Amino acid sequence: MKVANKKVTAVRLVEDALKKAHEFEDYNIFTFIDDAGALKKACEIDRRIAAGEEVGRLAGVPYALKDNFLTPAGETTASAHILQGFNSPITATAVAKLEAEGAIMIGRTNLDAFAHGSSTENSYFGPTLNAYDKSRVAGGSSGGSAVAVALDIVEFATGTDTGGSIRQPASFNGVYGFKPTYGCISRYGVVAMASSTDCIGFFTKSPDDMDLLMSIASGKDSKDLTTLDDYYGLSTGHATASSPTSPTDSVGVPQAASPVDVHRIGVVKEFDNESVDAEIRKALESKCKLLKSKGYEIVELDMPALKYALAAYYIIVPAEVASNLSRYDGVRYGFRSENSKDLNGLYENTREEGFMPENKRRIMIGNFVLSSGFYDAYFLKAAKVRTLIIKEYEKAFETCDFILTPVAPNPAFKLGEKVNDPVAMYLEDLMSVSLNLAGVPGLAIPAGKTAKGLPIGLQIVGPRRSDKSLIEFAKILEDEE
Ligand code: GLN
Repeated sequence: MKVANKKVTAVRLVEDALKKAHEFEDYNIFTFIDDAGALKKACEIDRRIAAGEEVGRLAGVPYALKDNFLTPAGETTASAHILQGFNSPITATAVAKLEAEGAIMIGRTNLDAFAHGSSTENSYFGPTLNAYDKSRVAGGSSGGSAVAVALDIVEFATGTDTGGSIRQPASFNGVYGFKPTYGCISRYGVVAMASSTDCIGFFTKSPDDMDLLMSIASGKDSKDLTTLDDYYGLSTGHATASSPTSPTDSVGVPQAASPVDVHRIGVVKEFDNESVDAEIRKALESKCKLLKSKGYEIVELDMPALKYALAAYYIIVPAEVASNLSRYDGVRYGFRSENSKDLNGLYENTREEGFMPENKRRIMIGNFVLSSGFYDAYFLKAAKVRTLIIKEYEKAFETCDFILTPVAPNPAFKLGEKVNDPVAMYLEDLMSVSLNLAGVPGLAIPAGKTAKGLPIGLQIVGPRRSDKSLIEFAKILEDEE
């Protein structure tokens, strides 16, 4: 993303991005395109460069923002009817950090309303179409962001990943998608889905760009007390570092474990079965062969608790969703139903008209599993399963450095194929949700195409705080693509 080299102006870059955004309107990628705002910012960057002023590492780089990040530019709707008309007075920390480096947001991208879904079909604005086949879904919930990068409209896009919403659409559209260690990037100013699993991350076209964005966006934030040290600090905790005290560079920034320290790659036995598409299994196999030829050892992992991850996720997440969505009542944000006689009616009608069916389903399930008679049987049980999953990952990383798995059981499916079958849709998340429950990082990487030309994605999973070395490791696989 080299921009401030004076060979190309920020205005030119932004104009090109905006032109493409309009050209691809039929994909339904954007909920808002900020033509005037983006051009104004580009002019300002060019003026500063001409005046010899310092500009940031992302000066003039156009990007797309998932429409659940708060900024005053345009309405923040989370693709939900209930947030129509909501103009945020605040800016999310992640957005502020990107813009401080000169990145220019050209538009807000479509998602499943409140990020509930795996196809972007649950959006109030209708589905986003897959970059490789318009009759198929973009994946979700960050479908708009993935397609914006895949169609080369922007250099990068933001996403949120509560159970796979960055990695799965990245894999459906042949781009990189990273869900960092929980707490790596501040969640301040991002519409909450499930606070204990929500992660902020990015879509890019290369591991290098991911590395740069992570170094900019990560770090402690007093407005989000779950945030960790910055990305470089994080990496020093990686188990594969060659020495217990990680080396530092000339200015004292701790450096991550070098990829040469990675020796053993785990594959999960439980994911090698008929429920995973044959072409995806083949892609995994060929990557393993390649790694073996490079001298890596492939370790087979037994992770029996992972088969309960989906069930635990679909209890814990709705419980948190029900709580987080209780703030939308027609009084404080966006849309308000006008058909009500009294205050209770106002709440009821606003929520009835404003939420999508999937939002309501999660509110119902969430309140059910938290209710006094069922709490022990469901929520508490799921919390225990979560602990088992955390332990299982810890154990796995005693025998391998990273794990390589499919992202989803299948490539992009047809529009309409699963949207009326919630369980089929939830099964999409089979291999992605356990990472969120355990708080570990996962990077979706492009790994070839199916016979029909659809992208295949694999994910590299690492221990907590291995973010930087994980991205470094992806570069090795990239070279061999
Ligand atoms: N598809 C998953 C779900 O519907 C994940 C969503 C997300 O990561 N935001 O819950």
